[in-house]
Amino acid sequence: MYLFDSTLTDSVDLVICSTCGMSEGRCGCGKGEVILSGAERKRISKFLSGMLRHFPEKYGIEIDRNGFASLESVIAILKERYGVGESHLRAIVQFDRKRRFEIVNGKIRARYGHSTDVDVRWSESGRIPERLYHATSPENLKSILSVGLIPVRRREVHMTEKPDEAMEVGFRHSRNPVLLEIDAERVMGSGIEIRKKGRVFTADRIPPEFIRVVEWRRR
Ligand SMILES: [Zn+2]
Repeated sequence: MYLFDSTLTDSVDLVICSTCGMSEGRCGCGKGEVILSGAERKRISKFLSGMLRHFPEKYGIEIDRNGFASLESVIAILKERYGVGESHLRAIVQFDRKRRFEIVNGKIRARYGHSTDVDVRWSESGRIPERLYHATSPENLKSILSVGLIPVRRREVHMTEKPDEAMEVGFRHSRNPVLLEIDAERVMGSGIEIRKKGRVFTADRIPPEFIRVVEWRRR
């Protein structure tokens, strides 16, 4: 059984200080200034997710095969819509709890969650946990236990290392999500690739024999 940890929110202010640098909430010396309120930060991250994962063309953004857009073009849009610049964007990306975004060589992409046709078959190096979690609504359970997890309106199946992170997503889609535990070790043993993308782990599909329902309770 797992208990809920609700410390996964992004709605904390981002603060800049000449002594402490960038931080979340109050900085060490307490003299830092808020550059983005928690609410602004949340709103902008949500906008970025939508644009980079689902509808770049709506904002006239070009995404390459690997999902990257030029940083410049994204900053121009944020400037116009929210009046923020590159340092704000970099702070949002750096402190994102779910590590949804990545900035490399003047380009930015969403690490996961795409519905658009980008190449999702890449993985960061690092350990893949033996067990992974995914939460779903009770209505989907029967189908998942018979055909497995397959992507719905996304390019990949998404899983997390912590049950709470899976449940956080589950609660967005259902009032009483069911927690599923995936035997990642056996999935990989069967020849199916599991990819690491920030704090999320993805696969093209997870067959039903590697999935079991586990009990979960709110703390
Ligand atoms: Zn400070």
